[in-house]
Amino acid sequence: MFKGILIEKDDDAGYRAALKEIDEAVLHDGDVTIRVAYSTLNYKDGLAITGKGPVVRRFPMIPGIDLVGTVEQSDSPDYQVGETVVHTGWGVGEVHPGGLAEKARLKSDWLVPLPEAFTPRQAMAIGTAGFTAMLCVMALERHGVTPDDGEILVTGAAGGVGGVAVSLLARLGYTVVGVSGRPEESDYIKSLGASEVLDRADFTSPAKPIARERWAGAIDVVGSHTLANVCSMMKYRGVVAACGLAGGMDFPATVAPFILRGVTLAGIDSVMCPRPERLAAWQRLARDLDASKLEMLSSEIDLSEAISVAADLLEGKVRGRVLVDVSR
Ligand code: NAP
Repeated sequence: MFKGILIEKDDDAGYRAALKEIDEAVLHDGDVTIRVAYSTLNYKDGLAITGKGPVVRRFPMIPGIDLVGTVEQSDSPDYQVGETVVHTGWGVGEVHPGGLAEKARLKSDWLVPLPEAFTPRQAMAIGTAGFTAMLCVMALERHGVTPDDGEILVTGAAGGVGGVAVSLLARLGYTVVGVSGRPEESDYIKSLGASEVLDRADFTSPAKPIARERWAGAIDVVGSHTLANVCSMMKYRGVVAACGLAGGMDFPATVAPFILRGVTLAGIDSVMCPRPERLAAWQRLARDLDASKLEMLSSEIDLSEAISVAADLLEGKVRGRVLVDVSR
């Protein structure tokens, strides 16, 4: 038995998450068993724990799409007992039991060794959100956006993906403008490296097909009207990396920015990201992320707090990244 959060669903008691002693039989097949040190709370974990989005597709399920921990048992030649490994994505916490528990059993193909540059705690302060922010920055670069091209907009800047994206872009020499619905977080977003913070409300009305050109690049975690407005404001040949749906899954836009301004919309998925790009993104994080900013944008809770903080996260009340110390 081991301690962890378990999500169960049945006709009598409905959908529920609770901190429990969990039987090993709940773990699925995998060639590496891990003693988990830290997990995190991402937006998707918030949806899974509260049941507000159809994230969990098998029951019972241990949520937690991220984890870092020590290999306890391994049938894989790639990982030895005692090694520290990091996991993000691959449907873990959705269809395969995840990181919000003391123990996990995963497929070795999904794991990456802990990058030398990071402590286990720092790797989870990054987690899926930080990894996704890096993938977004790499997409802007791949499509040719440079600091000389102009300002880069980051939406949801007080959240996890947004905060890491602001920090990374500023460190790389870009001029970054954040968008946030929380004016009280403006100083925090500026301390991560933003030169200016705009009000979320400026982006939530239905978008015009084309608006005044402003952004050379953009990273959007919100979707819906916000993404449509961002696209309409892109400079000629600007690039938008779209990774989120915090404001909605829809995309009420026109093709005008794409066919009149040559705007590129780059879709970002971290879950199934192929291994070579995964390793490259972790290497880039080791090189380009300022560890002091990482500390500034993360807070730490223990397993017993994870259920209530997951609800706060969906209500947009949480700043930056939330680390979960699974050993406490
Ligand atoms: P998070 O920490 O909760 O941050 C989301 C931020 O979005 C909030 O802090 C808030 O920022 C803003 N926001 C929330 N509700 C909003 C609304 N209704 N309208 C406009 N803005 C809103 O979540 P996260 O972990 O960073 O994830 C952000 C998004 O990216 C989520 O949709 C998540 O599913 C997605 N994501 C996708 C991938 C992928 O692989 N594609 C990976 C990771 C995350 P302000 O308070 O500053 O406005």
